[in-house]
Amino acid sequence: MLDKNLLKMVLDASKPNNHIYFDVGDITKLDVECIVNAANRSLLGGGGVDGAIHRAAGPELLAECRTLGGCHTGEAKITGGYNLKAQYVIHTVGPVYDNDDPKCEKLLRSCYLSSLELAKQYDIHTIAFPAISTGVYGYPAEKAAAVALTAVGKWLSENEDYGMAVIMSCFSERMYETYQKVIRSLHS
Ligand code: ADP
Repeated sequence: MLDKNLLKMVLDASKPNNHIYFDVGDITKLDVECIVNAANRSLLGGGGVDGAIHRAAGPELLAECRTLGGCHTGEAKITGGYNLKAQYVIHTVGPVYDNDDPKCEKLLRSCYLSSLELAKQYDIHTIAFPAISTGVYGYPAEKAAAVALTAVGKWLSENEDYGMAVIMSCFSERMYETYQKVIRSLHS
């Protein structure tokens, strides 16, 4: 599942422009150009990180989201950030985890890649991702972390000259440890 060589290459390489960082805390507090929302297909708000982003951004975010007509799983749409420090919010819809469905991994990867492509179109150079689908949508954290890092690593390696700082926002120490465990496993 995990493309070890690709991820190792990206994490090892000294590329001054592109980095993956980790932050433990609330994504809504981050001083970045764009934060990513793990939304649902209605884009009309929900619990978890979605609720936190809407609360912090204020009601104008919901008003803009109402104009978007929802979003398919694995795709991404962009809005303003309103009361957030972030100028933009990219809303992406992760898959509900189903162990028997091979499409899950593809859809989760697509969330990261679609969000990064959209960010690039808007000339965004700092973006923070929550651990998409690992809350209510039930994706096992370690599997999701491997998919996330591989997808982000691939995109960074393919956009070497663009200059993107990607922050993986961890709401718990446990999620941070999970990312570190996945990375360590690549170096062993
Ligand atoms: P999903 O429906 O995609 O599973 P959730 O919001 O339930 O989305 O959870 C996704 C991840 O976001 C989980 O790892 C959860 O711990 C995390 N999370 C929840 N609130 C925040 C927040 N304020 N900042 C960063 N991450 C958060």
